[in-house]
Amino acid sequence: MPGDFFGLSFWVGLLAWIPATGLILVAVRQMIMTELSGAGGLFVISAAIGLAVMAVKPPQPGFGWVYLLLLVGFALMVPVAGHVVEARAHAKIDQESIAKVYRSLQVNPKDLGAIATLAKKLHERGLPGHAIAILENALQGQSGRGVKAELDLLKYWKGQPLRQEDFRPLPCSKCGHKNPAGVLFCVGCRSPYLRAYASSWVYGGPGEKLLVAWGLLTLGTVAIPWGIKLLPPIGSILLISAFAVISLFILVWAFRRGDRA
Ligand SMILES: [Zn+2]
Repeated sequence: MPGDFFGLSFWVGLLAWIPATGLILVAVRQMIMTELSGAGGLFVISAAIGLAVMAVKPPQPGFGWVYLLLLVGFALMVPVAGHVVEARAHAKIDQESIAKVYRSLQVNPKDLGAIATLAKKLHERGLPGHAIAILENALQGQSGRGVKAELDLLKYWKGQPLRQEDFRPLPCSKCGHKNPAGVLFCVGCRSPYLRAYASSWVYGGPGEKLLVAWGLLTLGTVAIPWGIKLLPPIGSILLISAFAVISLFILVWAFRRGDRA
């Protein structure tokens, strides 16, 4: 019956190799450019091949298109993953510059250049209230040409709309003290608490949450149909429950980390 061979399932299986081949080529290229580790590359390649094989031969006949969709989604996640890598690199640079600020403050606690750098980073990272209060404290009683750039920046920041939330106290990761805006060292334990706070910028961006959610969806869509096919009914129920519980934990964890950023 040639009709069966060239029906919808046939085309789904054939189409699936387009995103799969694209993913494999991207993974190989990234591995050559050392932007992707060997393990990461192998994971992408085997996932692409696995999903394509499942699209050709789905565990439940007629559902190959589900795996085709997963492959297309997988390909769409490539730029998201690239963005995550870039955002992490950027966060690392910011984190290092804040560590440098605190080293300068150990030498000169009134180092205006260092304090202004810190304030700018905090402003960029969505803490305008803290940025304003820190810069204002540092500029207190100062005037003249030497501090004109900083005074102008402060004036500009203060001219922008601010919310109550922008001045929310930030907890110290060491002692838990909630420090009000404008404080450079924790009021509770004197530690450079903003340096520790900056480390939370490296993880938990929106792109990462999307990747985690996507990974879980893919895993569930692959594992559950196989479980139903291969396991006795009680095994399938256990598998689905275990998957639901684990997914919930991972999602809560991913979003919790994000809240700190
Ligand atoms: Zn503290």
